[in-house]
Amino acid sequence: MERTQLAVDLTFSRIAHGLWRLNEWAMSPQQRLHFVQELLDLGITTFDIADIYGDYTCEALFGEIFKLEPALRRRIEIVTKCGIKITSPKFPDRKIGHYDTGYRHIVASAEQSLKNLQTDYLDVLLIHRPDPLMDPTETARAFEELHRAGKVRYFGVSNFNPMQFDMLQRHFSQKLVTNQVEFSPWCIEHIQNNNVEFFQKEGIVPMAWSPLAGGQAFDPVDARSARLHKVLHEIAKEMGADGIDLVAYAWILKHPAKFVPIVGSGRPDRVKRAVGTLDLALTTEQWFRILVASQGHPVP
Ligand code: NAP
Repeated sequence: MERTQLAVDLTFSRIAHGLWRLNEWAMSPQQRLHFVQELLDLGITTFDIADIYGDYTCEALFGEIFKLEPALRRRIEIVTKCGIKITSPKFPDRKIGHYDTGYRHIVASAEQSLKNLQTDYLDVLLIHRPDPLMDPTETARAFEELHRAGKVRYFGVSNFNPMQFDMLQRHFSQKLVTNQVEFSPWCIEHIQNNNVEFFQKEGIVPMAWSPLAGGQAFDPVDARSARLHKVLHEIAKEMGADGIDLVAYAWILKHPAKFVPIVGSGRPDRVKRAVGTLDLALTTEQWFRILVASQGHPVP
């Protein structure tokens, strides 16, 4: 599979896989290992996760594969996240979900991720969401220390706008390598708010979360999703593609910002379908038909 360069010694597979729902897949450790091996065979080497996924359980579930097969670690890029504190039985004193991008929390969270994942380094650590109380000097200090200690190779953010990205970048000596945002025919917010132009201007590789709107792509719930459903089906038919999921991935992949879609399925056959779309080219007109259906009005 084609690879995307994020830094001199960091590349991602053009399509990544997401482990948000890993705790729901009822896999034994051996089955989890087999699943990851199947994805590696497809060329997917980049895996996205977060400290909080599965109520703080998914990292450890994923980490079990490295215990079974330590040699796999060097073949995989782990992207994990920190900065959200959710309410959880694990933290009974926490009264409300909130953000913490302070030095102590980031360092402690990354160190816990290393333990959970049974590894001694993270490839990329992201700040999960913009924090209204972020002090960028504190966040950057945590990044510098984690990097200096060899615990984290690279850093990035998620769900940031250009101003938030720039603020953190100005205090950090290394280039932030990615901004992971929701991007799909169902979510065009980052086209509308100029974030995408910012990625292209700054050479930031974006990652696209929920490429199929978390599975809702197949189940229209309102006029807008019904409109999208119809146009995606029409285009699938024109292209001889056997599903709207394929058209949605092709729509994401066509964007010149080179989004890395994060496929969230726990089924290897569905992940394989996503990988197949690397050879599926939408015409410019087809791409715009989907954009117009999503925004609900023609281009001016
Ligand atoms: P998605 O690919 O939009 O949705 C995946 C869901 O759709 C799964 O439950 C899957 O079920 C279902 N699905 C139904 N039909 C499908 C088909 N034909 N093909 C593929 N999936 C189908 O992605 P997502 O899980 O919402 O998000 C992907 C990843 O993005 C997450 O795992 C996480 O790593 C990341 N993420 C990041 C953020 C952030 O704030 N940074 C937020 C959300 C997600 P099956 O498993 O049964 O196939």
